[in-house]
Amino acid sequence: MSSIVPKISEVKDLTRIERIGAHSHIRGLGLDDSFEPREVSQGMVGQVNARKAAGLILQMIKEGKIAGRAVLIGGEPGTGKTAIAMGIAQSLGSNTPFTAIAASEIFSLEMSKTEALTQAFRKSIGVKIKEETEIIQGEVVEIQIDRPATGSGVKVGKLTLKTTSMDAIYDLGSKMIDSLTKEKVQNGDIIKIDKGTGKITKLGRSISRVRDNDITGSKVNFIECPSGEIQQRKPEVHTVSLHEIDVINSRAQGFFALFAGDIGEIKAEVREQINHKVAEWKEEGKAEIVPGVLFIDEVHMLDIECFSFLNRALEDEMAPILIMATNRGNTTIRGTDYKAPHGIPLDLLDRLLIISTTPYTEKDIQKILKIRCEEEDVDIKEDALALLTKIGVETSLRYSIHLITSASLVCVKRKGTEVSVEDIKKVYDLFVDVKRSVKYLKDYQDEFLH
Ligand code: ATP
Repeated sequence: MSSIVPKISEVKDLTRIERIGAHSHIRGLGLDDSFEPREVSQGMVGQVNARKAAGLILQMIKEGKIAGRAVLIGGEPGTGKTAIAMGIAQSLGSNTPFTAIAASEIFSLEMSKTEALTQAFRKSIGVKIKEETEIIQGEVVEIQIDRPATGSGVKVGKLTLKTTSMDAIYDLGSKMIDSLTKEKVQNGDIIKIDKGTGKITKLGRSISRVRDNDITGSKVNFIECPSGEIQQRKPEVHTVSLHEIDVINSRAQGFFALFAGDIGEIKAEVREQINHKVAEWKEEGKAEIVPGVLFIDEVHMLDIECFSFLNRALEDEMAPILIMATNRGNTTIRGTDYKAPHGIPLDLLDRLLIISTTPYTEKDIQKILKIRCEEEDVDIKEDALALLTKIGVETSLRYSIHLITSASLVCVKRKGTEVSVEDIKKVYDLFVDVKRSVKYLKDYQDEFLH
């Protein structure tokens, strides 16, 4: 498993980018030092009780006291359940993985439900890898390069290097060999090898060729600065998710599957090997596990098998923080004939800390809309914002948020600089909200179908 250390720093996940777009103004929970919610802070408005509760959960997460438990946020649509989950993730830091899925995404023909859930879990577990940056400097004594199989492109080699303290033989990987060739390294050259990146740099010729005892070279972990001083280099750290490591090492799919977004199922033995390797890195101090946040929206859409999977997965010592959301009260647990609160089986409910969100006041809606306008760089006239707020109260917050983008396009088209009441009216007529859409269809039915 030589390819196990991933060399990528950023993996794009399309669903995630899109979902987070709607919450890009959320930068945290907006709490003060004593975990009390500020009225408007870090993009968060109102919802004071839920944010306070989320703050306590955040504290528990930070102190490692929430293992094996999960959070349920219950509340009407558009009351900020996803926003609060996002706020928790943001407060944990930008290196904490946050994955948001809707329960219905689990059901697809491409993979089994449990595979989809496993992938979601592993996307939410970060591995902070401390990159090896050992730097070796010394005089080249011998270079030996082999090509084990012709046409395979694989190159292996050995390099004998004389340093101030010792003579040592180093194994060379393909990258190092390419770098050696590029630099035209020969015996007697003084070189520097970065074991982390595989980069080899030629520093000059050794004067030991002339005077045998004088070898320019310093030991491991030091690099030579342009000024000639010796400086220690800090190890580089980057975080990847367990899922990213799975995908890279999943031979059947190959590296490019990452970008196609079509990765299919990952073999259990690949995951086992990876878990083993990551545990080893942890032991050796090379890596740290960062439990992230997995947010599952519309959780009542999961079925009994998924719930039992979740129950088990939460027992794992690497488990992320599971935050679920629902807007249902008492409802049937999918896959059974039983009803239960929020459609969740009792054994899972038992593990949950429940937070509820409440409908927004007109004032809150106005503040959220104002923040969204700022976030989208949209200048809006006072009376237009008032109209937008009124629409938000009468339809939904999300609908009025959507109107911001479209109204600003209309405004740009008429070469305006500030969104006006007219712009809002125009898009309000173009895009109907749910109530109007249902009414149109009902009128249509009454007229034609009966
Ligand atoms: P659903 O049940 O439909 O999934 P939800 O409760 O998850 O809805 P969100 O998606 O979080 O609702 O909220 C709708 C929009 O309003 C989002 O863009 C969100 O970022 C924003 N929003 C909601 N609540 C707040 C808040 N308290 N402060 C700032 N923005 C908020």
